[in-house]
Amino acid sequence: MTDTIFRCGQLVTSKGHTALSGDAMSEIMVVDGAGMAVRNGRIVGVGRFSDIDSRFNGRIIDLGDAVVTPGLVDPHTHCIFSGSRESELGMKLSGKSYMDILAAGGGILSTVRKTRNASSESLKADAVSRINSMMAGGVTSVELKSGYGLNLEGELKMLRIACDIAHGMMAVPTYLGAHAFPPEKGRKEYVREIVKEQLPEVKRLSLSSYCDIFIEKGAFNIREARSILCAAKELGFRITAHIDEFSNTGGAVLAAELAAVSVSHLAFTPRSDFALLAEAGTIGIILPSTPLFSMGNRYPDAGSMISEGMAVAVGTDLSPNSWNESLMLSCLLSVYRCGLKQEEAITAATLNSACAIGLGGIAGSLEPGKRADFVCFDFDDYRKIFYRYAANQVKSVYSGGREAVLNTTSFS
Ligand code: ZN
Repeated sequence: MTDTIFRCGQLVTSKGHTALSGDAMSEIMVVDGAGMAVRNGRIVGVGRFSDIDSRFNGRIIDLGDAVVTPGLVDPHTHCIFSGSRESELGMKLSGKSYMDILAAGGGILSTVRKTRNASSESLKADAVSRINSMMAGGVTSVELKSGYGLNLEGELKMLRIACDIAHGMMAVPTYLGAHAFPPEKGRKEYVREIVKEQLPEVKRLSLSSYCDIFIEKGAFNIREARSILCAAKELGFRITAHIDEFSNTGGAVLAAELAAVSVSHLAFTPRSDFALLAEAGTIGIILPSTPLFSMGNRYPDAGSMISEGMAVAVGTDLSPNSWNESLMLSCLLSVYRCGLKQEEAITAATLNSACAIGLGGIAGSLEPGKRADFVCFDFDDYRKIFYRYAANQVKSVYSGGREAVLNTTSFS
């Protein structure tokens, strides 16, 4: 059997198949003069190059001085949507809040109108083009939410596109029918539709194993969230939720009670709730480019989450509201605004993000048995990744041991 042996200046990776929490988040392995052997797209050996070269036979690919990390994993995106909302930037600059824009018929609801009217082909092509741009920045796995259909047909359409994309790359679809209330239905009626129609149909068609919800003033309240998430749990869905993006509404307490896999945002979560989430094993996904794009100044306190024993992951929240295709930008903000150490940020964007979307067994770290998904940074020391910011620090990206062809309209 012929292997491929990659040689690089420095290899940096967290280790394990489960999310790291507390102090363990900063325990990363750094190997200078490293080698990694790959067979059939999977890693079979990692260590010093001299050691790997003596243990395995095969073609050597020399990546020069590059720093190699696991492929980045974006665990929270609203990447499938139609249209754009650049006009809202002017509204934000004039002091309008996210909820003001939503109440005026903009925000999510304007994207819902466009997404309902768009063909599956155009939605998929737009999403693939965004994912390629994300890959050029080092991302090798993504989560893809529904949530711009807000009716059975529209939600199924989005999830089918997400599943279709997942056939070509590492992508995980998440059902988010409870993203907002559709304008044509009452609150009670829509919650009932989610519980009685949408969730059972998503389950029957095996379109997603995750159920997400937006818990916030102006979106779903705790009582509604409880009935939706309990119904989802009973059907066997894994639970995740948007909580405390703009205010504290008690989402963390509910998520911990239901043993949610993850919760996202946490900008207004009280520190006392971090211990509950840690106890429940719920991963905190911080999305620090969202306050930036929402003109907010409250960033999630990830340093305290880690002190309280939580596992932290980081995502982009790519959407028409916070159109960020760069997970590196989110990582940078997680260091400069949310209190993560550089090593913790690497774990957050790789192993912990992978675990948040159920990929911890095959992605998120560079270890034997996992997929050879990795990024080569144009640096000679991993600490420069967050020290020096360039438009694109990524030299090349490998998915399943093969160099990804970036910025095309299809995957290769
Ligand atoms: Zn979101």
